[in-house]
Amino acid sequence: MTYAVKEMFYTLQGEGAHAGTPAVFVRLAGCNLWSGREADRERDAAKGTCARWCDTDFRGTDGAHGGRCTASDLARTAVSLWPAPSGVRTAVLTGGEPTLQLDAPLVDALVDVGFRVHVETNGTGHVPSGVHWVTVSPKPPAAPRLQRYDEVKAVLCDGHNVEQWAHLAPLCYLQPLWSADDATRSENLQRCIRYVMEHPHWRLSLQTHKMIGLP
Ligand code: SF4
Repeated sequence: MTYAVKEMFYTLQGEGAHAGTPAVFVRLAGCNLWSGREADRERDAAKGTCARWCDTDFRGTDGAHGGRCTASDLARTAVSLWPAPSGVRTAVLTGGEPTLQLDAPLVDALVDVGFRVHVETNGTGHVPSGVHWVTVSPKPPAAPRLQRYDEVKAVLCDGHNVEQWAHLAPLCYLQPLWSADDATRSENLQRCIRYVMEHPHWRLSLQTHKMIGLP
């Protein structure tokens, strides 16, 4: 079994409960809600409206440390990106949609070399056992399956009832929709702040990595 990896990089987790903590990000290639091609955005919005605004490049294997690799090769590369020879290491499996490829042998390979394994999923796929932390970021109309999640990370978008996801995990984070336009970004942030203050079972999550210029 080999895995299609778009890129791997060492950075700080920017969002949710682990914001600010160092992690090796493993971006697995491909997503089930958008092909990743500009021309397909409107067509694929029927599967996930996030296809209209997704800004992640998850196509192909041409990024830093990307390629097709076995579980042990991937784990070895992850270790090589970690700056310290020992101590707790964190690997964040993301995408695209990581559950399209993530399986128990890949989790085991990362755990064997000392990683805690975190997964960021849209909730449509099965998360294998052995994963230490699962973040679900629902992308309607695709419904998240019922399984163990540790945190929900919802994006406040027009027409989305985020309350339908509040039961999925003990921690609920709400993020403003990102925009390259300063005025729209600020408006989205204010709306998100208001929502959290009026619905205190949510917490505000910001894409802090973008604010500080990290990938
Ligand atoms: S599920 Fe995530 S990676 Fe896939 S299109 Fe939506 S926002 Fe992008």
